[in-house]
Amino acid sequence: MRMTHKEKDLIGIGFGPANLALAVALAEMPGAKRLDWGFVERQDGFHWHRDMQIEGSTVQISFLKDLATLRDPTSPFTFVNYLHHKGRLESFINLKQDAPTREEFTDYFRWAAAAFTDRVSYGETVEAVEPVARNGTVSRLRVLTRDASGARIERLTRDLVVAVGGRPRIPALFEGLGEDRIIHTSSYLSRRDDRIAGQGPVRVAVIGGGQSAAEVFYDVTQRFPEAAATLILRDHALRPADDSPFVNEVFDAAFVDAVHAMEAEARRDLIASMRNTNYAVVNHDLIERIYALLYRQRVADTERHRVLAGRSIEAVHERNGLILDLRDSVTGAVASEGFDLAILATGYRHDSHERLLAGLAADLGGFEVDRFYRLKTPTSYTTRIYLQGCNERSHGLSDTLLSILPLRAAEIVGDLLSGQTGRALAPTG
Ligand SMILES: Cc1cc2nc3c(=O)[nH]c(=O)nc-3n(C[C@H](O)[C@H](O)[C@H](O)COP(=O)(O)OP(=O)(O)OC[C@H]3O[C@@H](n4cnc5c(N)ncnc54)[C@H](O)[C@@H]3O)c2cc1C
Repeated sequence: MRMTHKEKDLIGIGFGPANLALAVALAEMPGAKRLDWGFVERQDGFHWHRDMQIEGSTVQISFLKDLATLRDPTSPFTFVNYLHHKGRLESFINLKQDAPTREEFTDYFRWAAAAFTDRVSYGETVEAVEPVARNGTVSRLRVLTRDASGARIERLTRDLVVAVGGRPRIPALFEGLGEDRIIHTSSYLSRRDDRIAGQGPVRVAVIGGGQSAAEVFYDVTQRFPEAAATLILRDHALRPADDSPFVNEVFDAAFVDAVHAMEAEARRDLIASMRNTNYAVVNHDLIERIYALLYRQRVADTERHRVLAGRSIEAVHERNGLILDLRDSVTGAVASEGFDLAILATGYRHDSHERLLAGLAADLGGFEVDRFYRLKTPTSYTTRIYLQGCNERSHGLSDTLLSILPLRAAEIVGDLLSGQTGRALAPTG
C-alpha cells in the first residue's frame, strides 16, 4: 500500500547543495513565497560527499561562491553570516584562506539546511516519476519514493526540479569483481578502515589522476603505516589544476550564456579545451606533498609508496587479490602488478535523471534542457521539469560544481514564476 501526500506546487528530488541553494532562493525571492514546495532526499540528513571528508581536505572554490552571495550578498544564508553566527568571523579572516576545509563547508551547508527541516523528507529514495494525464494534458507528475523501512510513498506535484548529483563511474574492467577488492572513492571513508586498518602490509592501488585520487593516495600513506600505496594514472604526470584568474572565468555566470549560445561542435571543443580546470587535475599544494613524500622515501632508501604515471590498465584478474596488467605508454611494455585492494577514483556519471524520468522518456525524445534548465517537453505538458547538475554539455563546466548555484537557482525560480505554462502563476512583487 502507498501513502499519499498532499499535492505540491514544486518538488525537488535530492537535497544536496544545488537544491539547497534552490530552497534558499525560493525562501527569499519575491513571488516564490506563495508556492508550496518540498524536497525528497535519500540520505538520513544533510551530508555532502560524506565519504570524502578526508581530514584537512579543502573545497576547490572561494568561500564567496556559497549558497547565496552571488544572487544576494545581503542574504542571511551567506557563508560570512554563517561564520558570524558561529563566532568565527574574525578567526576565519585571520586564517587568510579563500577555500575553507570541506568539513567547515559541510557544516555551513548543514547550518543552512537546518532552516528547511520541515520542507525536506530525508531518508526517502525517489524511484520513479510518472506523468499524470488529464484530458490529454500532463499538468501533474507523480513522484514515487521508498523510505528506509521499505514503505512506498506517493506525491503529486505541478513542477519538478531534479538535482541528484553523480553516480560512481566503475570502469568496465572492474565490474563484477569481488566487493572486498574494490572501493570507489564515493564510499572511501566508510570502507577504508575495514579494508586497510590492522590488515598488515596491504597493497593498495589507487586508480586515477584527479584530486580525489591524489587525496586518497596521500591519506592511505599517512593513515596506514603498514600499507603500500600505488597511484596509477594514465597521464604522464600529476597535473596541477589551473585556477589562474583568466582561466577561472570559465566558472563565471556569463560564461554559461556564452557557452549555451554556441554551436554544439564549437561548444564541445571549448569545454574539452578547458577540462583541466576541473578534471584529472590536482591541487598544487597536494602535488608537492606527494612529491616530497616520495623524495623522503628515496632518502631513506625505501620504496613503499609509488606513483605509476603513463600507465593504462589493460586487464584485471582476480587471483590471490588483484593482478593489474599495466601498459607503459612510453615503452608499450605490459607488466603485471599484484594488489590486495583497488580504490577507484574514476569519477561520476551524471545520468541518474534518465532512469528517474524513464516513465516520461517516450514523450521527451531526449533530455535536453533550455537555457533556464527546463527540460524540453511536448506542448501537451504544462508541468515543468528542471534539471540541475547534469547539463555540462549544454551549460559548461560549472554545471556539476558549486560555482554558480545561487544564480542558477534564481534563474530556475524566475522561470517558474514567469508563468509560461498556461496556468496562473505570476510573480507577486
Ligand atoms: C569529493 C568531492 C568534492 C567536491 N568538491 C567540490 C568543490 O570543492 N567545489 C565545487 O565547486 N565542486 C565540488 N565537487 C562537485 C560536486 O558535484 C558539487 O560540490 C556539489 O555536490 C553538487 O551538488 P548537487 O546538489 O548537484 O549534487 P550532490 O551533492 O551529489 O547532491 C545530490 C543529492 O541527491 C540525493 N539523491 C540522489 N539520488 C536520489 C534519489 N533517487 N532520491 C532522493 N535523493 C537522491 C543524494 O543523496 C544527494 O544528497 C566535489 C565533488 C566531489 C565528489
